[in-house]
Amino acid sequence: MTPRDRKRDPHQCGECATRFAVTYFDDRRGSRDVGSALVEVSCPACGRPRSVTLPVGAEKTLLVEIDEVESDEGGGG
Ligand SMILES: [Zn+2]
Repeated sequence: MTPRDRKRDPHQCGECATRFAVTYFDDRRGSRDVGSALVEVSCPACGRPRSVTLPVGAEKTLLVEIDEVESDEGGGG
């Protein structure tokens, strides 16, 4: 048994430029490529739909997460 491998694809909204990550489990078995499917996800910030390409079946475990950019400059503590 091997742990399920969670894939992570970075995307950026073309409307509000929010960076977000589309994560999913790749449930394909073996090395045979079953092809890919076009899935529509919503931007977590503005809700604008965006089409992403995922392996067939991956849309069942699809999660969209905002990719928080940690750009703390200076600061103390
Ligand atoms: Zn957006």
